[in-house]
Amino acid sequence: MTSLIKSIQDIKNVIAKSAKPLALIPTMGSLHAGHISLIQTAKSECKTIIVYIFVNPLQFGPNEDFSEYPKDLASDLKTCEENNVDFVFAPEINEIYPDIESVKRNLITPPCELADILCGKTRENHFSGVATVIKRFFDIIEPDFAYFGEKDLQQLYIIKWLVKEFNLPVTVQSCPIVREHTGLAYSSRNKYLSADEKNIAASLYKALKLARGNTRSGIFPLNKAILESLIFLSHFPEIKVEYFEAKDKTNLANVHNDTKHGFYYLIAAKIKKVRLIDNIEVP
Ligand code: AMP
Repeated sequence: MTSLIKSIQDIKNVIAKSAKPLALIPTMGSLHAGHISLIQTAKSECKTIIVYIFVNPLQFGPNEDFSEYPKDLASDLKTCEENNVDFVFAPEINEIYPDIESVKRNLITPPCELADILCGKTRENHFSGVATVIKRFFDIIEPDFAYFGEKDLQQLYIIKWLVKEFNLPVTVQSCPIVREHTGLAYSSRNKYLSADEKNIAASLYKALKLARGNTRSGIFPLNKAILESLIFLSHFPEIKVEYFEAKDKTNLANVHNDTKHGFYYLIAAKIKKVRLIDNIEVP
């Protein structure tokens, strides 16, 4: 039986009586198969599972989709119930930020090498908002393990930095990207796409695979592999690519052709106003 909890005091009370290890799965709700995979991994490693659902205003820019972000608490509760989650913590904004203006003046600022690249180039302060909210929830819940998806790869690096920087007693676990049969990565924002648009959106993953294949075959240097993928994507006028880049696996630094490390190709693109991200590892 999943319990819905709205206040900090109530979640602290139930945690005090719960078995350890305690798992936290941070989400913005509108749960899908990607979130469920995090829950299932957590269940295999921990005794008490808490999913938090909180659409964090601090990580949305003024022209982004905060007010339209899909919300369906009843359906999310059902999903959590079906997956044997113990507690869903879904506080109101003022429970987490009693004085949001003061929080905005004191955001946690991750290092620019991680936060100002890729998505951070167009989403100003996004990762400060992410780091700030995750730190708040870690402080409230004090989980032993926290589960994050590799789909939000840059976010994962930011969280790992956060844990190290503040010496937080939590182990961050990352889980692979879950995809629809077309290859499209599950995302709450996919709800805004029609069936045709979702098929077009699956081209993002095809483009990533194309770049990986071209790199592995050694035919192309990295920039040529990226160019080939961009040419492939240009056949879909609906897709507006924001970035397509190669980044080092160890620290998300730029990658050169003679790299000895594994790296990722990462993409962000918009279809209509829907912003999608995806990535692929090149071991
Ligand atoms: P969100 O609700 O979009 O903030 O996502 C909550 C968590 O679920 C994040 O750690 C995401 O990386 C993860 N997640 C979202 N989509 C997927 C997916 N398709 N596969 C794996 N994890 C995902």
